[in-house]
Amino acid sequence: MRINVLGVGFDNLTMEEAVERGMELLHSPGTHTVATPNPEIVEVCRENLAARQAVNGADLVLPDGIGVVKGAKMLGTPLKEKVPGIEFASGLMERMAAEGRSLYLLGAKPGVAESAGEKLAAKYPGLTIAGTHDGYFQEDGPVIEDIRQSGADCVFVCLGAPKQELWMAKHGEATGARLLCGLGGSLDVFAGVVERAPKFWSDHGLEWFYRLCKEPRRAGRMMKLPLFLVHVQKEKRRR
Ligand code: UDP
Repeated sequence: MRINVLGVGFDNLTMEEAVERGMELLHSPGTHTVATPNPEIVEVCRENLAARQAVNGADLVLPDGIGVVKGAKMLGTPLKEKVPGIEFASGLMERMAAEGRSLYLLGAKPGVAESAGEKLAAKYPGLTIAGTHDGYFQEDGPVIEDIRQSGADCVFVCLGAPKQELWMAKHGEATGARLLCGLGGSLDVFAGVVERAPKFWSDHGLEWFYRLCKEPRRAGRMMKLPLFLVHVQKEKRRR
């Protein structure tokens, strides 16, 4: 059973279990999706029903970051640990490489997915980068066709939330891939365009603060974090 944090249901898994479950989905017939909401996305889902339905409709919903884990604990329904999307993706690529699987990278500014693909192919020998496409396309049809033609087993969909979740829910099946994972800004990190917070910061639950210092333009969006905690407090009292 999923753990409900302000209307979004999270799977209660460790990182290792999440990767295992991801691989099970990759091996199962049909198309499956993974969502990795952080508190900011939970807040979006509170107000946007379509986004909430798309996120909750994913086969695997993982808590991307410490905020959701803290919220779940405050509500008296703790989650085992945070499962950052980017680390989940890395675990998945390691396993996919060992099985000689193929991956399509969709999203980010022109050139970023390509550059991420080169770096990932070098880092995970055995993993085939079946194709790449930037995230600023006007028509879905040609992109869906390109993924289908590539025969990719898995697609990393990095269009930002909730665009990526809505895109996966609507077009996932048409791509023919077994697994689609919504991973936000991960391609920027894999390509080396954006730097992830050093371990010290993430170990202390301060990744958001590091990011805020590096990218002050995110301040407006980050105001959703304290708002999230206020809403969790309210929900706690209500329960
Ligand atoms: N993006 C995209 N298409 C769009 C809007 C955004 O490909 O129409 C990309 C953007 O370039 C970035 C990612 O989606 O690489 C979202 O990054 P953000 O830092 O917002 O993601 P987060 O990890 O915070 O969800």
